[in-house]
Amino acid sequence: MRCPVCATDWSSVAASPTRCVCGYSFATGDASLAIETLKRTHRSTVRRVVGGVAMFGGGLLSFVLGAGALSTLYSFVFVLAGAALVVRNLPAAVRASGQMRDARALAKLPAARLLGAPRP
Ligand SMILES: [Zn+2]
Repeated sequence: MRCPVCATDWSSVAASPTRCVCGYSFATGDASLAIETLKRTHRSTVRRVVGGVAMFGGGLLSFVLGAGALSTLYSFVFVLAGAALVVRNLPAAVRASGQMRDARALAKLPAARLLGAPRP
């Protein structure tokens, strides 16, 4: 069994889970909890990316405007910390955005498609 939102493979687990770690409910096909969780993840990662860009830009500006060894050291630390924030959080933000799009598409399916195949 594979989660349609986060693509986590649950086939190796002995007992079939009722809910995925992302919040998707296998029993009901409800993706609302997954959407809320992904919204929070997306919001926090985007906030960290914006903070990283601001730190990177501030470090560069400090390097250009500053003079002296201490100013250069501070700007170097700011540039490195900003770049690290962007590099670490940008993939998570993109992944959360894609998963949120998939979860919203699942939530928009008509009810008849969630009930399964028609009985013979
Ligand atoms: Zn999942």
